[in-house]
Parts: sequence; structure tokens; C-alpha cells
Amino acid sequence: MKTSTRTPRLKASFAKKMLLLLAGVAVLAGASLVKPLPAVKTVKVNERIYALLGPTELPNAHNGGYMVNSTLIVGDRGAILVDTGFSDEIGAHIRKAAEKLTKLPITHVVNTHHHGDHSLGNVVFPGAEIISSENCKKLVIDTGADWIAMGESMTGRKFPNTRAIPATRTYASQTRTAAEINGVKIEFWVPEAAHTRGDMLMWLPDDKVLIGGDVLVNTVTPAFRDAEVKLWVQTLAEVQQYPARTIIPGHGPLMTMQQAKKLHKQMAEFYAGVEKVYKSGGAEEDVRKKVSLKEWQKLKHFDEQMGGNINRTWLQVEAANF
Ligand SMILES: [Zn+2]
Repeated sequence: MKTSTRTPRLKASFAKKMLLLLAGVAVLAGASLVKPLPAVKTVKVNERIYALLGPTELPNAHNGGYMVNSTLIVGDRGAILVDTGFSDEIGAHIRKAAEKLTKLPITHVVNTHHHGDHSLGNVVFPGAEIISSENCKKLVIDTGADWIAMGESMTGRKFPNTRAIPATRTYASQTRTAAEINGVKIEFWVPEAAHTRGDMLMWLPDDKVLIGGDVLVNTVTPAFRDAEVKLWVQTLAEVQQYPARTIIPGHGPLMTMQQAKKLHKQMAEFYAGVEKVYKSGGAEEDVRKKVSLKEWQKLKHFDEQMGGNINRTWLQVEAANF
């Protein structure tokens, strides 16, 4: 009796061990196929603010979709993280870099706009209060699944644990709200529209730091896919009211106000140039011939972005002059 009951049990446990072993081998084989994400470049802005700079390439197999700049603000009772990456994997990667800088928990997450590279990492901060503009919240809900699909197709990876998590605290369009979080004074500024219809910038008056999201990008071509170009130009003029010592852009290295002014001029001249072509009876194809793109050509991703940028600007100029 005893042997007959023990033998199958032994067999079962042996089979279980073999299965676990095989599963372990499979996990190791899988892990070696998935490349590690590029390192987070940490730049200390002051005693409590760190820019966590991501790569500046577009999403690809090498970077796994990691391409965004985040900001860590360490307050007295917890930390605030601005922008969380394209997936749960990238969110965890950024969180790990943040945890090297503070032992305090991340109590608040801010999304500067709804684009997947800025908001899909929210899923790895389940305990944090998530803050964005009202329009950003709506757009996260409406477009989150599309952004996951886009990230997966551009990187050749699967984001199985990524879900779009919308904000729980929002600010309305065309408002500037003074707030204090963990002892840090922050003005949340929601312009009417710029890079998207749901951008939110953050001004930290005690630190003289402006966090721009993709309203302000450096060394890369601004992306117009969801932009309101004329209002973006206007927003860039308003940026100059802030006496910022440091600007943290959505992509690329830290900026000075001088560089923000240059971006404003470049965008304003581009919009005016396209409008001039339109008003003189030209066609969209004439834009490349008649508007100087010399400064644009110096920027990364010019070839990938500029055709779409010209087209969107053309359609908006047309609508504005109809
Ligand atoms: Zn972005």
C-alpha cells in the first residue's frame, strides 16, 4: 500500500521539477533575446530636481521605445515624477533610476501630455496620484490602445502588461494653477493647445525651472502629428515670460531660455512662411522650395517628421484663411 501511493507522488514531484527546470531555461533564453533598455542619463539640476534624460532616437528595436525625458522632483514627504515612458518596462526602468536618487516614495506622477512615450509607464505607479490636463486625461482614455499598438509595432516588442492609466487630478484648459506638493511650489500651466490639445507645463518658481513636455524639445524636430501649430507658436512666446534658469524639454538635452527663444522664432517663421505661400496662391508642394528649412535640417528626425509637419501646417493655414 505504502509503495503504491508513494511511487506516483515521487513521479509527480519529479515531473514538476523537470517542468520548473524547463521553464527556467525558457525564461533565461527569453531574457537573453530581449535587449536591455538604454541607460537613463541623470542630470542634477539642483538639490532636489533631477532630469532623467532618455535617448533621442525614435522608437526602435534597440531602445524598446525608450525615448522620453522625465523629471524627478524630491520633496519633503515624497517625490514627484514627470512623464513615465512608453511601456510598463520603461516605466520600471525610469523608476529604478529615480530610486537611486531618493529613498522617498514617488507619491505623484505628472503627464505633460497624452502621447504614449510620456504616459504609458503610469501603470507601474499604482500608489501615486496621477496629474495631467483635463484634455490629456480624455486623450489617454481615447488613444491609449492605439499608442500601445504603435509602440509594439515600432519596437517589435510586446507590451503585455501596459495599460493606459488616466489622471486622477486634472487642470482645465487655459489655466495656471499654483499648487504645493510635498513642500514644492509648482504652477501647472495648461495652454489652449500647442504640441497637442492637452499639454501641461510646470513652472517651479523657487527653483526657476520650467518643465516643458514636448512644447519644448531640443536638437530633435518638433512633431506636429497632433499639434495646433499657430497656438504652439503663441505658447512659445508666453514661455518667455518665465525667468527660467533651466528648461527641461520633452526630448533632447537641457535648454536655456535663449534656445527656447530660438525655437519660437523658428516655429513662427515656418508658420508665417507657409501662410505666405498659401496667400500668394501657391500649393503645398511649393513650401519646400519657398520656405527656408535650413534650421530644420539641422534637427534629428528631419526626414521622418518634416513631410508630416508641412502637411499639417498647410491644412491648418488653409482652414484659418478659408
Ligand atoms: Zn514625446
